[in-house]
Amino acid sequence: MRNNIFDFSNTYAKLPKNFYEKINPRPVKNPELIEFNSNLSRFLNIDPNRINDENGKLFFSGNVIPDGARPIAMAYAGHQFGNFVPQLGDGRAILIGELIATNGKRFDIQLKGSGKTSFSRQGDGRSPLGPVIREYLVSESLHYLGIQTTRSLAIVRTGEKVFRETPMPGGILTRVASSHIRIGTFEFFFYKNDIKSLKKLADYTIARYSLNTVNKNRYEVLLKHVIKSQAKLISKWLSIGFIHGVMNTDNTSISGETIDYGPCAFMDHYNPNQVFSYIDYTGRYSYINQGKVMFWNLSKFAESLLPLLNENMEKSKEKAVNSLKLFPKYFEENWSKEMSKKIGLKKSRKKDLEIINDFLELLKNNNIDFTLAFRELSKLIKKINTPFFNKNIKNRKQFTEWSLRWKKRLEQESFNESQIAIEMDKVNPIYIPRNHLVENIIKNAELHDDFSPMKEMLDIIKKPFSEKPLKEKFSLPPEPHEVVPNTFCGT
Ligand code: AMP
Ligand code: MG
Repeated sequence: MRNNIFDFSNTYAKLPKNFYEKINPRPVKNPELIEFNSNLSRFLNIDPNRINDENGKLFFSGNVIPDGARPIAMAYAGHQFGNFVPQLGDGRAILIGELIATNGKRFDIQLKGSGKTSFSRQGDGRSPLGPVIREYLVSESLHYLGIQTTRSLAIVRTGEKVFRETPMPGGILTRVASSHIRIGTFEFFFYKNDIKSLKKLADYTIARYSLNTVNKNRYEVLLKHVIKSQAKLISKWLSIGFIHGVMNTDNTSISGETIDYGPCAFMDHYNPNQVFSYIDYTGRYSYINQGKVMFWNLSKFAESLLPLLNENMEKSKEKAVNSLKLFPKYFEENWSKEMSKKIGLKKSRKKDLEIINDFLELLKNNNIDFTLAFRELSKLIKKINTPFFNKNIKNRKQFTEWSLRWKKRLEQESFNESQIAIEMDKVNPIYIPRNHLVENIIKNAELHDDFSPMKEMLDIIKKPFSEKPLKEKFSLPPEPHEVVPNTFCGT
C-alpha cells in the first residue's frame, strides 16, 4: 500500500549540478483547481479519488511540494528562429519529479508558469491562463488523435494577475512528458565544449529511453532514434493540418513528442504556406516548412553529438551526415503512409503520391477546409459527388476526373468499399480544436469566468473520429468574421 499520493523519483535531479538549478515553485496567492485529468492521473499511478479541489490546487500550483519530489529548473540552450542562444533553460517551468506510469515508463511532472528561476532572464516566470488552456486543449487533442505529445494533467488559476500588454489572469499547467530533454539540452553542453557533461546527458538519455545499443555505436543509435521519431512526428502533424508555430531547437524534444505548445494552431482551409504565429514574419515555421525545419534542427542535434560519435572528427562528421541522410527518406515514407491512409490506401505506391498531391492542389486552389475535405472523402466512395464537394469545388470537371482516378486506384485494394470507408473515418478526424473555437473558449474563461465551453471541447476531442449529435459547430471552419489569423506565444 502506498501512503503518498505521488510516488516520485528524481533521476534527472541526480545528474550533476550544472544540469539544473535546484529551486521550488514560487507560491501563488489564491490558487484554484480549474481542470484535472483523471484518466491521465490513473495512467500515472495517481489515484484520482485522492485529489480534490483543496489538495489539488496546492499541488498543481506548486504551493505545496509533494513528499519525495525534488524540484529543479532544467538548463538548456537552443536555436531560436535560426539564432543560437547559449542559455535558455526553464525560465517559467519547474520539473517537480518523475512518476512511473502503469506501462512501466517514466514521466516528468512539470509545472509551467511556476515563477522565476535563474533562467528567467527578463521574464516573470509566469503564464497567463489563456496559453495554459490552449496547451491543455491542443496537447490532449493530439494525444487522442494518436500523435506523440506531452500531455496535460491539471490547470490552476493562480488568482494573480500577469502583466503582458494588459493585465491577465495567471495560470499554471501541469505538463507530463516522457522527458523534457530537448535538442537544446545537448546544444547547451556542446557549445560550452563540456564534453564530459554532454556524454553524461547522452548516456542518461539512452538509458531513459532504453535504447538498444548492444554491439552498436551508442551515440549513433541515439541520433538515428531521434531522426526516426521526429520524421514520424512531423508526418503526423502534416496529416492533420497541425502547425506548431515555434519549432526552435529548444522546443524539439528528444522523445519525438510534440512539446511547447505556444502559438500553435490547426489550419482550416488548406494553405501550405499557412503561418499563425504573430512573430513568424518570414514564414520559417509555416505548415509546409515543418519537415525542412526539423531536418535543420536535427542537423544541430547531430552537430552537438560530433564529439561523441567518434574520436576522429572526420569520422564523426561522416557518421552524422550519413545518419542525417536518413531523415528525408523516413520523412517521405511516413508522410506517404499517413496520407495514403487518409485516402483509403493501406499501402502507398510511388504513383499514389500524384493522387494525394493532386487532391491537396484541389484543396488549395478552391480554398477548402483540410479536415472536412478528408473526412468527406469517405462519403464519396459510393457516390460521384457530395454536397460538400459540390459546394466547394469550382472546376467540377477537374474534380470528377480526380475522383475517378482515385476510385480506380481503390479498386486495386483488397477491401470492399464500405471497409475502406470505415478505415478512412478512423484516420480522418471530424473534431480538431479549431483556432477560432479555442480563442473563444479562452475569452469565456478569462473574461466571463466561464469554463463550460472548455469542458465541452475537452469532451469532444476525446473522440475525434466519431460524429456526435448536435455538435456540428465543433466540426465547422470559421465564418469569415470568426477567423483568428494570429496566435501568440503568451510569454
Ligand atoms: P518558448 O519560446 O516559450 O519555448 O520559451 C523560450 C525561452 O524563454 C525558455 O527558456 C523559456 O523558459 C523562456 N520564457 C518564456 N516565457 C517566459 C516568462 N514569462 N518568464 C521567464 N522565462 C520565460
Ligand atoms: Mg520552449
